[in-house]
Amino acid sequence: MAAVVIVGTQWGDEGKGKVIDILSEHADIIARYQGGNNAGHTVVVGEKEFTFHLIPSGILHSGKKCVIGSGVVIDPEALISEIEDLEAKGIVFDGRLFISARAHVTMPYHKILDRTIDEKRGKGKIGTTGRGIGTTYMDKTARVGIRICDFLDSEVLKEKLEIGLEEKNDLLRMLKSSHRLDCKKILKEYTDYAKKIKPFAVDTSLMVNKAVDNGENVLFEGAQGTFLDIDFGTYPYVTSSHPISGGVCTGIGIGPTKIDRVVGVVKAYSTRVGGGPFPTELKGELAEKLRNAGPIGEYGRTTGRPRRCGWFDAVVARQSAIINGLDYIAVTRLDILDNFSKIKICTGYNYKGKIVHEFPPLLKVVENCNPVYEEMEGWNKDTSEIKNFSELPENARLYLKKISGLMKTKLCMVSIGPAREQTIILEDLWRP
Ligand code: IMP
Ligand code: MG
Repeated sequence: MAAVVIVGTQWGDEGKGKVIDILSEHADIIARYQGGNNAGHTVVVGEKEFTFHLIPSGILHSGKKCVIGSGVVIDPEALISEIEDLEAKGIVFDGRLFISARAHVTMPYHKILDRTIDEKRGKGKIGTTGRGIGTTYMDKTARVGIRICDFLDSEVLKEKLEIGLEEKNDLLRMLKSSHRLDCKKILKEYTDYAKKIKPFAVDTSLMVNKAVDNGENVLFEGAQGTFLDIDFGTYPYVTSSHPISGGVCTGIGIGPTKIDRVVGVVKAYSTRVGGGPFPTELKGELAEKLRNAGPIGEYGRTTGRPRRCGWFDAVVARQSAIINGLDYIAVTRLDILDNFSKIKICTGYNYKGKIVHEFPPLLKVVENCNPVYEEMEGWNKDTSEIKNFSELPENARLYLKKISGLMKTKLCMVSIGPAREQTIILEDLWRP
């Protein structure tokens, strides 16, 4: 009986999907609180590989309820295609998927504008996923967005589009884009989507609160990671939402007093996709080795881009532990380090001769920070079949203890491969 939050502690792609899948077995509700189909989680079950963008991976466990909260932005076309793909693989949605009537909808112009604006940034390009995420959140904040409840009412949708499209077309002209938006065409397309999405729309906030009050197990699932958070990430190279644990409160509509436990997912090394600072980034052979060592390589699930790879950064991880109020960490992809004879951990940055342990807010400073490394001995042994913590090679245990010590957070899980069986569990996160 608990309400547990799962957050990414780095730049996303920490392997949250797998951790969520493991914890979902004993959850009653799995609720996503932010982001959109910029996210990509991969879950391997037996011979089958499933990729999720919007739908909580908890849907793989029959009978569990999955919620998409108001803090998520929803591209109806992407959502419907994800539902259809999963249905084709035998997943049942009826009575199991609940979408917040207050979540904002990604419209065709959000996708066009996202790509057009990012291209125009030139050297300062963020390298967004081009899914219209930032532009949907822009409209939400500007109070001209279209929510699921607006989009399900054809009159409201028409009214909002008639007013909004004129402005968007002006904007496209100004940006010298050749795209023009046609109200009738969009209305027709989105009215068809609305029919398919209507059965899922409810007040998810009330639903989740009721479940928590009734003592059900509720798992809150974040997308992306702490260093992509709009406030606490490497701004402006961030996503437009709040992946941090605090995002649960605003993205679901639940009070902080209702949350029992926060678990940070930590990759055993670092990766980042898209632009922006990455102090421990490696180039060349070592980066390639990290990228391609495992059964699933480090390539973006959403865009296919190769991920930038580097050593574990304790400055980033420690800051994450603080901002998210982490109770536990789940360390993932430890097996990737199986064949490294030396492993480095960044314990601080050298900035103009001074050692800093806090992540600087000013990017100009970050760019001039050189990582200070501590070198550890590798274990040179296959860990992917190990079942218990005590069976891990001593150097692997030392490495995990080092990470947990630097983050001042207890270890609750270790993942040593993509399959469900390749998981070492140290704590029951569902205990009351
Ligand atoms: P946006 O979220 O598409 O606006 O992209 C903003 C930045 O966040 C870019 O650097 C993306 O590569 C990054 N990003 C967005 N979603 C994810 C994710 O799920 N994993 C890793 N990086 C992401
Ligand atoms: Mg991902």
